[in-house]
Amino acid sequence: MSDSEGAATTEPSKTATTTPGEIVPKQDSRRARQMRRLQLPAPPRPSGPPQLDFPPVKNGLDYLASVVKHLDETESEVSPSDVKYAVLHLQAAVEVLFKARLLAEHWTLVFTHPGDATRKALDDATLKSVTPEQAVTRLQNIAGVEISDKEAMALKRLATDRNKLQHFGFTDNARAVEARAGEVLDFLIRFIDTELQPYLEPADRLETELGLKNLREGLGNINAYVQQRMNRIGSELRKQGVESTTIECPACENVTLVLDEDPPVPPAGGGAYATCRFCSSFFELGDLAMRWLPPLWDAQGGFVYTHICPWCDAEALGTDVRVRSESEPVYFCFACSRIIKEIAPCDGCGKSMDVSVWGAVPLCQPCEDAREPDPEPEYELPYEDPADYGFDEGAKPPAYENSWFLKEGDKA
Ligand SMILES: [Zn+2]
Ligand SMILES: [Zn+2]
Ligand SMILES: [Zn+2]
Repeated sequence: MSDSEGAATTEPSKTATTTPGEIVPKQDSRRARQMRRLQLPAPPRPSGPPQLDFPPVKNGLDYLASVVKHLDETESEVSPSDVKYAVLHLQAAVEVLFKARLLAEHWTLVFTHPGDATRKALDDATLKSVTPEQAVTRLQNIAGVEISDKEAMALKRLATDRNKLQHFGFTDNARAVEARAGEVLDFLIRFIDTELQPYLEPADRLETELGLKNLREGLGNINAYVQQRMNRIGSELRKQGVESTTIECPACENVTLVLDEDPPVPPAGGGAYATCRFCSSFFELGDLAMRWLPPLWDAQGGFVYTHICPWCDAEALGTDVRVRSESEPVYFCFACSRIIKEIAPCDGCGKSMDVSVWGAVPLCQPCEDAREPDPEPEYELPYEDPADYGFDEGAKPPAYENSWFLKEGDKA
């Protein structure tokens, strides 16, 4: 990160004023306010949000405008070079905007080691800056900025993409990088809106609002393009009947990774692959399966047989796999491609069984065969017992009686 772009002073350029109804940020430590007030000559600063120098925010907005321009498919086809500049400028925007927010919290937070911070280093821009990863942690833990795990992951990947670009040139798949960049862009637009706008003076706020409006339009174009591609890929997968063997792609997180599909240029050495229709990333099938195999031990230290497929007995049953044909994550066997919605352990040996076939308390075949047969049930007559009607089969037949038969003249 270049320090010049983030090295804003914390002193407001003009005397801060607040008008009723202005958004007052939740985050500002009293010490930070006192510190800032110490730097200010009389008249004493009115209470209210600390003011941010606009240049770093404007700088960040400029970077983002460039990102949108490079990724907007309605303008022109996005080339690998576009993606490269998008990534570089997006990361620059992340760094400058995060620093601006940290400055609003407390100026020492933009130093790698806040304990060693000096005003002189800040003012001369000779400080050793907070790393992007540190910045995320401080924003979350100190400034109370909400950054979801998914957003933190997208930020981390962006930083990785940028480093790869800087050190090895462009090696990664442009489509995957593009999709990830869109995610960060979306996050940053919200970040400026909710985390930086409240610290700006009204005039700067207006300018920022205009900048954000343009960015949102650009982001809409990018997203609409991504959506359009997704729709096309979706209908292709449906027509080809491969939805039940299309799973989530680890690179772009879309459910567009088709198993047993070779990349357009298969790597030397052969092997079986899965290839993503959205971002063109491809994975060797064995490596891919490992991502979904859960730990083999449960909380009590017991052995869990969740890896073993109940159908083919291969050690390849993935857990929580998003498959295109299913609305919920399922168990998916990477060996026989079966989808299993619910499993339960065999009542005898604990082996995983498919509940839809064997029921909720299943018993596998070996356990079924080895089971002690139940004691013989007491013999029950399958028909009604003559004894129920007072007959005694052991009794001698009664002696013939004439009265048993109707005689002429008797009433029926
Ligand atoms: Zn992908
Ligand atoms: Zn299987
Ligand atoms: Zn069993």
